[in-house]
Amino acid sequence: MSLNTQILIAAVLGVAFGFTLNELPAGTFVDSSLYGLNIASSIFIGLLKMLLIPLIFSSIVVGVSNLQSGGQLGRVWKITLMCFATTTTLALILGLGAAHLFEVGKGVDIALFQDAMSQHQTPDTLTPSSFFTNFIQNTLINPFKAFSEGNVLAVVIFALLIGIALVSGGERFSSVRKLCQQFFDIMMLMISWVMKLAPLGIFALLAKLIATEDISILSRLLEFSLVVTGTTIFHGAVVLPLLLWVFGGMSPLRFFRGARAALITAFATSSSSATMPLSMQCAQQNLGVRPQTAGFVIPLGSQLNMDGTALYEAAAALFIANLMGLELSFTQQLIVCLTAMIASLGAPGIPSAGMVTMIMVLQSVGLPAEAIAILLPIDRLLDTVRTVVNVQGDIMISVVVDHHTQDEDLPTPIGNTV
Ligand code: ASP
Repeated sequence: MSLNTQILIAAVLGVAFGFTLNELPAGTFVDSSLYGLNIASSIFIGLLKMLLIPLIFSSIVVGVSNLQSGGQLGRVWKITLMCFATTTTLALILGLGAAHLFEVGKGVDIALFQDAMSQHQTPDTLTPSSFFTNFIQNTLINPFKAFSEGNVLAVVIFALLIGIALVSGGERFSSVRKLCQQFFDIMMLMISWVMKLAPLGIFALLAKLIATEDISILSRLLEFSLVVTGTTIFHGAVVLPLLLWVFGGMSPLRFFRGARAALITAFATSSSSATMPLSMQCAQQNLGVRPQTAGFVIPLGSQLNMDGTALYEAAAALFIANLMGLELSFTQQLIVCLTAMIASLGAPGIPSAGMVTMIMVLQSVGLPAEAIAILLPIDRLLDTVRTVVNVQGDIMISVVVDHHTQDEDLPTPIGNTV
C-alpha cells in the first residue's frame, strides 16, 4: 500500500476513533488512549520540528545560491511575490464577499457572548505600526539566537543573505556551498524517514483533536463556521486549482494526488511550519518541482503566504462588526483587507496563530479586541481547514514558479539532490 493511501486511511480512522472517544464516558480506557495518542503525536510533531530549522536554513541557502548563480533569483522573487500577493488578495475578496453575501453575525444576540468577552484579558494594543517595529526587532537578530529559539522568519532572512553571499564570493566559497547542499540532502533523507511515521502521527493527532475539542460548540456559531469553512474550501478546491491549471500547466487532479500527504498533515497539525518538510518532499518528489525552486518558495511561503488565514481574518472582522450592529464603510473594509494581509504575512505557521494577529485586524477599524473571545472556542477546529489552504498555496505557487522559470538554463546544483 502506498504511503499516500496509508495516510488517507489513517486520517479517516483517526477521526472515527476521536468521535468514539468523545462519546465514551470518562474512564481508564479514554485516559490511557489519550495518553497513547499524546505520545504518538508528540513524537511525530517533535521530529518535524527538529528538522524544521536546519531544513529551512539549508534549503534557502541552497535554493538562493543556485538561483542566483543561474541569474534567476530576481525573476523567481518577482513571480513568487506576485503569486503570493494575487492569491492572498483573491482570498481576502472571497472572505469579505462571502461574509457580506451570507450576512454572517447579523441577528445573532451579542448578549450570548457577553460573559466570554468580559472574562477575556485585553491584550496590549497591536497597531500595524507597532506590529512592524516588532517585526523588524524580531527578525534582524543574532542568528544563533534565532536558531535556538526557532525564530523561523529570522532564520529565513539570515539564510537569504548567506545564499547571496555564497554566490557573490564565487569559487572561493564553493566548498561551503557544497557542504550546504549535502547538508540539505541529509535533511531531505531524514524527512523521508519521518514520512514513514506520518500515518501513525496523523491518526494520533486527529483522534486527539476530535476527542478533546467540544464539537458541539461549533453549533453556536454554526453559520459563521460553515460560511468560513465553505469559502476556504472553495478557495482551495476551485480558485487555487484554476490558477494552477492556467498558470502552472498542471491538472488539479495530479496536484492533489501529489500533495495529498502534506495537505492531510496540515489538516492534522494545523501548522504550516510543521508541515513544511512534507510540503518540500511532495513538491519535489511527486510534483517534479526542481529542488532549487521548492527550496526557495516553500519555506518562504510557509511564513509569508497564508490565504486561509487572510480569508478567515477578513470574514471574522465583518462577522464581529455585524454582531455588534456596526456597519463598516468601504474604506474600513479596505483597511480590514490591508491589515489582514499584513497579519497573514506576520502570522507564524503554528496552530491558532491567526487568532493573535486577528487582534490587529479588529483594532484597525476600532472593533474591540475582546471580541476574539467569541471565536476562540471554535478556532482550533476552523484552523484545520485554513492551514490546509495555506499549505496548498505554497506548494501550488512552487509549481507555478517552477513552470515559468523552466525554460531558462539552470546550473546543475552542486552535489546530489535527494
Ligand atoms: N495555523 C495556521 C498555519 O499554520 C496559521 C493560522 O492560525 O491561521 O498556517
